[in-house]
Amino acid sequence: MDMVASVLAFLAHAGHSVVSCADDLVSWLQTLLYVNAIQPLLFHAGMMDVDEDTYDALYWVIIGVLEVGLMYALLRPLEALAPAEKWRDRKGVGVDALYTWVTRLGILNLLFFFTMQPFFDHAQSTLRLMGVKTVDLDNLWPGVTTEPLVAFAIYLVVLDFCSYWYHRLSHRYGVWWELHAVHHSQRKMSLWCDDRNHLLDVLGQSCMFAVVALVIGVPPAQFVVLVALTNFMQSVQHANIRVHFGWLGERLLVSPRFHRRHHAIGYGHEGTTYGCNFGVLFPWWDMMFGSASFNREIEPTGVRDQLEGVRYGEGFWAQQGYAFARIGRRLRSRAPRAASAARREARDDATVS
Ligand SMILES: [Zn+2]
Ligand SMILES: [Zn+2]
Repeated sequence: MDMVASVLAFLAHAGHSVVSCADDLVSWLQTLLYVNAIQPLLFHAGMMDVDEDTYDALYWVIIGVLEVGLMYALLRPLEALAPAEKWRDRKGVGVDALYTWVTRLGILNLLFFFTMQPFFDHAQSTLRLMGVKTVDLDNLWPGVTTEPLVAFAIYLVVLDFCSYWYHRLSHRYGVWWELHAVHHSQRKMSLWCDDRNHLLDVLGQSCMFAVVALVIGVPPAQFVVLVALTNFMQSVQHANIRVHFGWLGERLLVSPRFHRRHHAIGYGHEGTTYGCNFGVLFPWWDMMFGSASFNREIEPTGVRDQLEGVRYGEGFWAQQGYAFARIGRRLRSRAPRAASAARREARDDATVS
C-alpha cells in the first residue's frame, strides 16, 4: 500500500512539474507576443480598452496553437508511415484542418468554463448559505481533492461518461443526428477529422462539458489539462493510422481502430437506427451498455446515403448549411405524417362513438 502511495505521489509530482513548466512557457510566449505584436496593434486601432481581455485570451490561443502543432508533429509522420487507408490524393482533408483551427483557437470549452465559473461560484455559495449540499467531488468524498491525481482521474471518468451519452443520444434523435452527421460525412478520416463538427453541435458539446465540470467542482488548472488531454486523444483516434493497441489496450482506451468502426458505413453510425463504439476516451461505457464492437477490419467510412448521392457539402459553409437543409426536410416529412396520424385517430374515434 505504501508502494502504491509513493508511486501516486511521484506521478502527481511529475504531472504537476510538467504542467507548471508548460504554464511557464505559455506565459512567457503570451507576454512576448503581447508586448511586441498585439499591444502596438491595439494602440494603433484605438482599442486599448480591451487590452486586458485580449491579454488573457492570448493565453488560450497559444495553448491551442501548441496543441495543434504537437498533434501534427506526432501524428502526421505516423499517417505517412502506416496509413489505415491509402488515398489517391488528400482532397477534402483540408477543410477539416480549418475546423480544427476554428475550434481549437476558439477554445469553446475553456471559454464556457471560465465565463460560467463566476455564476457557478455564486450559485454554490448561495446554496451553501441555505444549507444545501452541492454535488462537487469534495462534498461527496471529503478529502479526495487533496490527492490531485486521484481527483483528476475521477473528473476524467465522470466527464467521459457524460460525453458517451451525449454522443450516443446525438445518434438517436433525427435533428441532432443531422448536426452530428457533418462529423460522419468525412470519408477520408485523418488527424484533423475530430473537430469537423456542426457549430451548433460544438456549442452544445462545450456547454455540456463545462457545466458538468463546474457541477462536480473541477478546478480551473485541472480543467485546462483535461481539455488538452481529451482533444489530443480524439485526434489520435481519428488519425489515418494502422495501429492496434492489443487485446487489453483496445479495451482500456479508445483506439483509432475502435473509433474507425464507429465511422464505418453500415455499422457504426447509421443515423438513428443503431450504432456502436460511441466512447470518447474509454471503451468501458460501450462494453457496459452493450454498444461495443471490436472488429479488426478496416472499413470504408462515411454516411450510407452519401453512396446514394445525398450531398453533405465540400466546404465549411456548405457543410454547415446542408445540415440545416436536411433538418428542414426531416421536419417537413414529419409534419404530414403527424397530420395523417391525427386524421386516422379522429376517424377511429368517430367509428367507436
Ligand atoms: Zn469521430
Ligand atoms: Zn458519432
